[in-house]
Order: sequence, then structure tokens, then C-alpha cells
Amino acid sequence: MTKILKGFSLLVRIMDEIDKLKNENIAQKENCEFCKEAGLKTGQKTSYGSVIIFRIGSDKDGWFATLSPRTGGDPTKNFTLQLMPFSHLTHFSQMNENSAKNFGIAFAKLSDAMSRIMAKNPALTAMADNRDNGIALAIYGKCTTWKEKKEHLHIKLFQFRDRLSQPSVVDSTFGRKEIFNDGKEDYVKMKPVKKIAITNVNEIAKELINILTDFSTKKSVNGDDYD
Ligand SMILES: [Zn+2]
Repeated sequence: MTKILKGFSLLVRIMDEIDKLKNENIAQKENCEFCKEAGLKTGQKTSYGSVIIFRIGSDKDGWFATLSPRTGGDPTKNFTLQLMPFSHLTHFSQMNENSAKNFGIAFAKLSDAMSRIMAKNPALTAMADNRDNGIALAIYGKCTTWKEKKEHLHIKLFQFRDRLSQPSVVDSTFGRKEIFNDGKEDYVKMKPVKKIAITNVNEIAKELINILTDFSTKKSVNGDDYD
């Protein structure tokens, strides 16, 4: 095949696969938990005990966030948030411009609210000497495209401390972990993480909702309004 033909067939392939992603039906699905939760109001609880703490945008371009009832960190101090689109998006690339704007605002607001609650703990500081005492945040989200794992997008925001501050597979520190071998395969050691119910879910939810509601009146560092 000539170079031009090869280039052309590659272009067709990219357009074909991206078209399939972009043209997926993103209407809310009856059998999807997250689509059902998208209809709940701020302050309401889901069937598994998480609380809706934030909503932004319309059905087509909006996002909502929940406070999870369980954490893999210290259940008296740690908590995890989850951010999801109202539409049944399964891939980050399916966001339209307004959806992307709302996603950015939601992410900024949730990060701010989480940090403010963490800062109430006198042990946590903006510049800590060790990883367990910092107001450190992390996010985790993925969009998988194989059939049995094609799910409604959900992004977790969590406090990057306790056992939740272990290196992720994309970190260089993960690559530098000592490699062991059990006679069959190589492996690295990770500390186990067990999810436990947080002790004050209603109290934290209320605090988060208050901060998030009040956020529009706050200024960013450079003085610009977020809204
Ligand atoms: Zn869904």
C-alpha cells in the first residue's frame, strides 16, 4: 500500500471509531443506578446511603456529586466524593462544550469544599512534613470500552492520605516498587484497603452542601468570580 493510501485508511479508521463513541445514545437508562440518582435533589440519599451534595447544569450538560457512605481511609476523618454526569456518558470524549464547562466548575467547587472541611482538622496543613498530614487530594476516573465494563462515567475525589495515598499505577513511584516473585509471576506489594462506613455522613453532607451553596459568593485567588 502506498504511503498516501495507508494515511487515508488510518484517517477513516480514526473517524469511524470516534464516530461510534460520539454517536452513542447518552439518554438516561432505566437500568442504570447513576441515571436514577441523577433525578434526586440535593440532600436526598441514594439506595446505598450516599447523599447528593451538588448539582449543576441541565439534563443534557449537567453533573452531580455524592458523598459516599464509606471510605478506605480513617472513617472518622476521611470521606470520598463521586462526580457523575446527568446523561449516561460512558467516555470522557463524549462531553460537549457546556458539559465540559460544568465539569470544570464542579471539580473546582468540590475540591474547594473538601479542602475547607479538611482544614478544620488541626493536624492537616497546606504544606505538611509527611503525607498523612497534608490537605492533599486525588481523583480517580476511567472510561473503559469493553462490553461488560461500559458504565456511566463516575469520578472519585478523595483525600490522598492514610492507605488511600498509595502510588497509582501511572505514578513513577509505582514503577519503582520492589518486585517480588512467588514462583509463578512478578508482583509488587500494596497495603490492603477496606471500605468502612464513615461515622458522620449526615453531618459532612450538610457541611458540604452549605459550602457548595455559598461558593458563588467566594472569589478565586486572582480575584475572579467562578460564576
Ligand atoms: Zn447511566
